[in-house]
Amino acid sequence: MIATKAYAAQSATEQLTLFNFDRREPNPHDVQFEILYCGVCHSDIHQVRNEWGNSKYPIVPGHEIVGRVTKVGSSVTRFKEGDLAGVGCLVNSCRECSNCKKGLEQYCRNGAVGTYNDYEKDGKTITYGGYSNQIVVHEDFVLHISDKLPLESVAPLLCAGITTYSPLRHWQVGVGHKVGVVGLGGLGHMAVKFASSFGAEVTMLSTSPEKEVDARRLGAHNFALTKDPAQIKELTGYFDFIVDTVSAPHDYNAYLQMLDTDGVMICVGAPPTPAEVLGFNLIGNRRSLAGSAIGGIPETQEMLDYCAEHGITSDVEVIDMAYINEAYERMLKGDVKYRFVIDLATL
Ligand code: NAP
Ligand code: ZN
Ligand code: ZN
Repeated sequence: MIATKAYAAQSATEQLTLFNFDRREPNPHDVQFEILYCGVCHSDIHQVRNEWGNSKYPIVPGHEIVGRVTKVGSSVTRFKEGDLAGVGCLVNSCRECSNCKKGLEQYCRNGAVGTYNDYEKDGKTITYGGYSNQIVVHEDFVLHISDKLPLESVAPLLCAGITTYSPLRHWQVGVGHKVGVVGLGGLGHMAVKFASSFGAEVTMLSTSPEKEVDARRLGAHNFALTKDPAQIKELTGYFDFIVDTVSAPHDYNAYLQMLDTDGVMICVGAPPTPAEVLGFNLIGNRRSLAGSAIGGIPETQEMLDYCAEHGITSDVEVIDMAYINEAYERMLKGDVKYRFVIDLATL
């Protein structure tokens, strides 16, 4: 077994503290790597605090992981010691169902295995994520990371990046489309970067007036303050697509009304409680309300390669491991520009 250092929460009401555990020795198809950086996703907070009702303790969060390979199993062909490597939200799936065969492992019909807060295929070993100094993952779920971009700014691409890239590609968002992005946080800032990179006209829909300058710097063409009813009303019927990244309960109807005919509101934010939707907001203008979860392994690699080619990274604030509990409090206040990333050298 491999002695591993981490930060974990022992219950929904406790802070994260130092935690030691063992990872498995690499099996023939496993890649072991030293974690250099790990992004902090709002899903980490939801799960540490059991807001989705499925948390397994102790919980070691973290699914925006980049590092350097230290050891490979005897049958590994795609990685060697010293390579850069990344792991996102998934560490396993059945590989046999129709979704897995299409590269949609996130929708595996037999249950994909999450990087943390899940059980390995044995049904009893809890998976522990990237707030730790090393990880062992089957090579099929390890991504290649370019050495062209700063690693700390690449880490958030493994979740915030792919979660926004995937729906924009699925709905073929690009030139001629008007896109609204709701919420300027980790996911929101990547949605703005990708949508503008794909050629769409992008409007930031935010509750924080002080974020306007940054929204425009990140690629937004317009900014609307969603707390101002007049600005909301002006956008009635305006968008082809809205990407909603909000983590807290909020009113979907206000945004549905901003969609043009055949417009699609894509929910990627995952508030813990159900939303109420008035049917008339969908019936009028034949609108759709949709959702999307992260992305499969082939598309995650495609996204990483696209980012390396186009110089796209996350805007990050690098933190020490011990700062994590304070970072959570700041995220809950919307005070992050625009992703915290843990430097695991400080663990
Ligand atoms: P984040 O960095 O905390 O950003 C969320 C943003 O939402 C905030 O910065 C804020 O932006 C806005 N917001 C927060 N509370 C709000 C409220 N009450 N009303 C309106 N806007 C509010 O979070 P994140 O890491 O981007 O994650 C966002 C959500 O996506 C989380 O629920 C997370 O679990 C989920 N998620 C889903 C997937 C998936 O596969 N679908 C993957 C990753 C994460 P403004 O200040 O601009 O208003
Ligand atoms: Zn995430
Ligand atoms: Zn499957």
